[in-house]
Amino acid sequence: MLVGITGTPGTGKTSVTTLLEKKTEYQVIHLNELIKDEKLYSEVDTERDCVIADMNLVEKKVMEKVDMSTDVTILESHLSHHIADIVIVLRTSPYKLSERLHKREYSENKIQENLEAEALDIILFESVEWCEKVFEIDTTNQTIEETVADIEEILCALLKGQEEQLLVKYKPGSVDWSEEFFA
Ligand code: ADP
Ligand code: MN
Repeated sequence: MLVGITGTPGTGKTSVTTLLEKKTEYQVIHLNELIKDEKLYSEVDTERDCVIADMNLVEKKVMEKVDMSTDVTILESHLSHHIADIVIVLRTSPYKLSERLHKREYSENKIQENLEAEALDIILFESVEWCEKVFEIDTTNQTIEETVADIEEILCALLKGQEEQLLVKYKPGSVDWSEEFFA
């Protein structure tokens, strides 16, 4: 089972999946690293200081890397919902996200762009549009460990075919930042 962990930059994808990788037997592919290491991009956007991934190449490479001997392969990236059919979207209140992104060496423009993307649910919308199964976790007041526990709960239920129960706690569309962000 291939499961994407996606979300706006700063929502904790890398931290959370790094802990998950240590704690469990699941395979974790950190997609942004793979894209850089294997040069799976078609363009370098110098103005926005990022690369434009070639998603056909990326998907092909991911399929080669998937370890069939494990139950779960986690694909970690804000691009993972382009490839996986099952995704978990990590959400973080734009206020908290702002603190985290200011600690990174991001330009003010890039920070604003990401805060708006989070406030407007962009990645959640894309996920719901493109993927078969979508779950959402509000990580705003959670520790990394608590978010890992939520992900493990979701994976466990999926493996047992008991996903209906997940739609109570992790239903996509439950998170809404519009009041606090646009007020
Ligand atoms: P992403 O991969 O989604 O861009 P990262 O995991 O790289 O996110 O960055 C999240 C940052 O926020 C890290 O520096 C992490 O240490 C920090 N952080 C602080 N508290 C939390 C938390 N509860 N959950 C996730 N990240 C947290
Ligand atoms: Mn990351």
